[in-house]
Amino acid sequence: MNQNLSPLIELQKLDLRIAEIKEQRRKIPERLQVVDLPLREARQLHQETSGSVETLIKERRSSEHDLEAHEAHTDKMKSRLSELKSNKEYQAHLFEIEVANKKKGDIEEKILLCMEKVEQLQRVAKEAQEKLSTIEKSFVQEKQVLDELEHRLSTELADLESQQQARSAHVEKGLLARYNSIKASRKDHALAEIKEGICSGCRLQLPPQLISEVKRGGDLHTCPYCRRMLYWSGQIPVESTPGPDLDKTSVLEIGESV
Ligand SMILES: [Zn+2]
Repeated sequence: MNQNLSPLIELQKLDLRIAEIKEQRRKIPERLQVVDLPLREARQLHQETSGSVETLIKERRSSEHDLEAHEAHTDKMKSRLSELKSNKEYQAHLFEIEVANKKKGDIEEKILLCMEKVEQLQRVAKEAQEKLSTIEKSFVQEKQVLDELEHRLSTELADLESQQQARSAHVEKGLLARYNSIKASRKDHALAEIKEGICSGCRLQLPPQLISEVKRGGDLHTCPYCRRMLYWSGQIPVESTPGPDLDKTSVLEIGESV
């Protein structure tokens, strides 16, 4: 194979892993969103039910005050009965007391209803609280997993990027520019391995003549369909990590045959 492609193949391995890591990191906020949504819903439900309980308790207290005031008023009315002179006045006053007693019953019923509602809502609020605790727990766990993943990926990325930089420095500039331009236009890899007569980049069958030329090495060949630089791993040299001694004169021998 073309000896100069060897450092590029190594560079491409790094580039592909870097792209993979970036994609994984990009998905982390989405994954957090997935667990955040039920948490927000549970919080809202908990807030709403607790709020309703408080409102009802206030309502009950207010009715209890009404009842006290009303009872004081009725007691005063009752105490006045003995002061009344005529039978007519007495009867009218009795009637007023009867009306007052009926009103007292209404207030008492309202208080009872309120207490029942409070009890029901307290059960709902308790369930909401329990559900919220469970969801909070799993959110914290998932967040921890994602934080650890983010940390691991960013550490690996920083390491790969410095390797990428070091490796790029060992590739002849023209070849590197070409590699980067194909990489950018294909939005993935610039090098394609020939496997069973097929370009692994575009999955198309390559002419046998071109395959034998690639296998022979020497000139640089590109796929006639996807323009990726072709290589055949059957001839990858044992030394796959070229040092800084990569000779520029050998780079100059590269010819364009496609
Ligand atoms: Zn191709």
